[in-house]
Amino acid sequence: MNELLASIEQKVRPLIGQGKVANYIPALANVNPNQFAIAVYSNDGQVFQAGQASTNFSIQSISKVFSLALAIKHNGEEMWQRVGREPSGNPFNSLAQLEYEAGVPRNPFINAGALVISDMNQSRFASPHYAMREFIRRLADNPNIRTDKVVAASEYEFRARNASMAYLMKAFGNFDNDVEAVLHNYFDSCAVSMNCIDLAKAFSFLANKGYSKHNNEQVLTPKETAHVNSLLATSGLYDEAGSFAYHVGLPGKSGVGGGIIAIVPNRFSVCVWSPELNKSGNSLAGIAALEALSESIGWSVFG
Ligand code: GLN
Repeated sequence: MNELLASIEQKVRPLIGQGKVANYIPALANVNPNQFAIAVYSNDGQVFQAGQASTNFSIQSISKVFSLALAIKHNGEEMWQRVGREPSGNPFNSLAQLEYEAGVPRNPFINAGALVISDMNQSRFASPHYAMREFIRRLADNPNIRTDKVVAASEYEFRARNASMAYLMKAFGNFDNDVEAVLHNYFDSCAVSMNCIDLAKAFSFLANKGYSKHNNEQVLTPKETAHVNSLLATSGLYDEAGSFAYHVGLPGKSGVGGGIIAIVPNRFSVCVWSPELNKSGNSLAGIAALEALSESIGWSVFG
């Protein structure tokens, strides 16, 4: 596996230079684009890696998977009245659908959906950011995971679009808490800094029927885990979810920091990272690496 990952790195490194680092969050624009990492965490607890797998980066929208898991643990089925389970076919930060669909976001992985999920967590926990950070540290088995406060402050300063979504949902009656407080907690989660090994390990429960082996915790039930994976497969990569399912064939979630996690159910979890993005806001070299990996292992959830 280490050899395979090294060969994938060789194959995709030449793509660096063809994408663009996210610049709508100024603090992310300064990241060195010439970086690549991949890490695999197998269900029997082995780590395989290539590239800068111990270098921390901003997890951004990958955090939406943690917040969703936390919300599923603490809310019943009625949570799905406030957020849908359909792919949006739209960019991650689009406002268009939200107006004509009466403030109910299509799914938990577009920004509007993640904001509703953050609102649910805000109602549930006295300190939602603390609850999230402890959850992530436990799953990754790393007590040193931190939020990058510079990134969080930069996101808050340039929050206009996310704030618009949240206030629009508030106007439709689909937002319970103070919008600015929820935005702060949402950005604090997006600005968590982790590396590929941390992330592959943290999401191993999604490859293992909800069970996190290294900390002996049933994070979600097998059924809830299948639900999360189905949402990842249909909506984890925004308006590129269809082509990701076609070419990679795995549940996955991207972030504008250039990270992508993917799940090979019953086998392993994987994280790739390369900061340059394509037009849909997904890591360009990262997607190419996952395509190469899924082709080599010859396995897709679609058969
Ligand atoms: N924090 C980012 C935002 O809200 C997350 C977007 C992403 O990673 N796609 O805009």
